[in-house]
Amino acid sequence: LVSRKKKSENTIVDIKGEKVGDGNPHLVFGPCAVESYEQVATVAEAVKAKGLKLLRGGAFKPRTSPYDFQGLGLEGLKILKRVADEYDLAVISEIVSPADIETAVNYIDVIQIGARNMQNFELLKAAGSVNKPVLLKRGIAATIEEFINAAEYIMSQGNGQIILCERGIRTYERATRNTLDISAVPILKQETHLPVLVDVTHSTGRKDLLLPAAKAALAIGADGVMAEVHPDPAVALSDSAQQMDLEQFDHFMKELKATPFAR
Ligand code: PEP
Ligand code: MN
Repeated sequence: LVSRKKKSENTIVDIKGEKVGDGNPHLVFGPCAVESYEQVATVAEAVKAKGLKLLRGGAFKPRTSPYDFQGLGLEGLKILKRVADEYDLAVISEIVSPADIETAVNYIDVIQIGARNMQNFELLKAAGSVNKPVLLKRGIAATIEEFINAAEYIMSQGNGQIILCERGIRTYERATRNTLDISAVPILKQETHLPVLVDVTHSTGRKDLLLPAAKAALAIGADGVMAEVHPDPAVALSDSAQQMDLEQFDHFMKELKATPFAR
């Protein structure tokens, strides 16, 4: 169903009027994790001020260590909803359990399925059974074919509002957190009719590479870019080293807008 052979026109995923896949770049910013109302609202204000619409923030955090901050859970989703309503933004947040999907649709505008859950088939089926856009991230060690099959799981349940997200894969290279597979973007665009985003934060894990990676993503045909922004990354409860502060966010946006590919 996700194959280009089945449908030649591009799928456009409409997120509260933001039409991802329409040929314009769509940018998603926000903190790694929802930590407080004030923290999210501060980023929302900066996002809004730039004329952007899409805000991200994790409420359920799939952390490598069980002793790390696990997220605020439902409380985090409530914060996101309040901020989305107050700032007229659309929010994207990761859901990790099939049991939370039905509740989540009342609070968020896009269900994110994270890299670690790309082959959690029960979660994929649950997300495929609701009428809500899904942002599906590529698994840490997933081939492009496996990634496309994961999207197929969602669509086979009836939900065709899927955005694919390349977020880097695990390789032998340690200079970056993951290896951004930039060629996956045109391959996914050729093989499927779905929009494709690139997460420059989790793929590179390096603030100095966010801008060049974002430029490369748009130049190669991505439908948008995701990056993490936190009001005070030094005290962030997760991914402290790689989130942009608000000043870096300003600079990032100015530079990105100045490139020929981004308007
Ligand atoms: C995230 O976007 O918050 C995240 C955890 O990313 P990934 O699933 O790609 O690691
Ligand atoms: Mn993160």
